[in-house]
Amino acid sequence: MPQASTQILSFLKPDPLTGSISTPIYQTATFVQEAPGVHKGFDYARTNNPTRLVLETLVAELEGAPRAFAFSTGLAAIDAVVKLLEAGDEILAVDDLYGGAYRLFTKVYSKFGISVRFVDSTDPANVAAAIGPRTKFLWIETPTNPTLKVTDIEAVSAIAQANGIRTVVDNTFASPLIQKPLELGADIVVHSATKYLAGHSDLVAGVVAAKDPQICEELKFIQNASGAVLGPQDAWLVIRGIETLELRFEAQSKSALAIATALSEHPAVNRVHYPGLETHKNHRVAAQQQGEQFGGVLSFDLVDDRLEAATAFVQATQYIHLAESLGGVKSLCCVPSEMTHKSIPREQRLRAGITDSLIRISCGIEGTQDLVADVLRALDRIQSNVATQNTEALHA
Ligand SMILES: *Cc1c(COP(=O)(O)O)cnc(C)c1O
Repeated sequence: MPQASTQILSFLKPDPLTGSISTPIYQTATFVQEAPGVHKGFDYARTNNPTRLVLETLVAELEGAPRAFAFSTGLAAIDAVVKLLEAGDEILAVDDLYGGAYRLFTKVYSKFGISVRFVDSTDPANVAAAIGPRTKFLWIETPTNPTLKVTDIEAVSAIAQANGIRTVVDNTFASPLIQKPLELGADIVVHSATKYLAGHSDLVAGVVAAKDPQICEELKFIQNASGAVLGPQDAWLVIRGIETLELRFEAQSKSALAIATALSEHPAVNRVHYPGLETHKNHRVAAQQQGEQFGGVLSFDLVDDRLEAATAFVQATQYIHLAESLGGVKSLCCVPSEMTHKSIPREQRLRAGITDSLIRISCGIEGTQDLVADVLRALDRIQSNVATQNTEALHA
């Protein structure tokens, strides 16, 4: 087996027309036809665009799918998948579902008669027990955002299949570099390409890949009918991002493991969530289905479980910037309870382990030692803040 990077680059052929080593950007709305309906495979840019097609083919190859489809955002990709359903259908979703997907399912699709229920899919037995008569999709993320829960894709897909249900995997947190859900039995894969695939925090994009050619046909129809396609410039940037996916992912995974290990030993830290730690509930499953790479994202909460403590931490880091999103070359951190997951009711958030002081870090490609030092310095800073406050309280 050649290395992943070798494979990725071999999927990207030079432009057959000109030899251009970089994929040409076809910045056009329409394509001139020789006669009505007679053209070179492209008629209108919503339906098809050559630059987008190169990206879609690349993602399909990476995911082991016959076809893939690129959308303007990850949520537009998710939206297209939900549109495969009908009124009366139900989605059985992982309980710490991405906040935007939660909002889409509960606030938009509920109006159209599509319902959602939640399950802790980290134990396949829970999935088997939760499937109902109207369940059509099992919707999982693994690892999840932001508590990095891991679901055994092979086990839950088998349960879903035995019940005539399709499994959808949001593969954003693993990337197709290390985890290939379709090979493990899933039916549909979605990505926020905004994250690892594009990898530079400079655009938003989404992709869907599916195994069954019939579903691919339906997705192609929905993509064209609803129209939230990815533009050619952004498609080009995602292609360029994917060219360095392996190098970035390795560097990010290395730093995340180092930070997670350092945090595990720190007295100010309560719990650390990272599938690469042996203490992680499903570390073995992760090691097996993720090819022993665990990604650049980790999260942790503090012994001082107040939002203020988390706020003090994220304001004290120097290299790790406070911003939503993940998977880019620059390290980012966020407080999910106030940012990415604010749309989820607090009670439900707490049940999913998203405490008020939970902090998520997405490692970039800066030096590992610099990032570890940054985290430890920020923890020292908030501890000395607490100490000062205590002294002040004593003297008040
Ligand atoms: C960011 C994200 C999305 C949504 O993608 P956008 O590109 O922001 O629309 C969906 N799922 C997961 C797991 C994400 O992290």
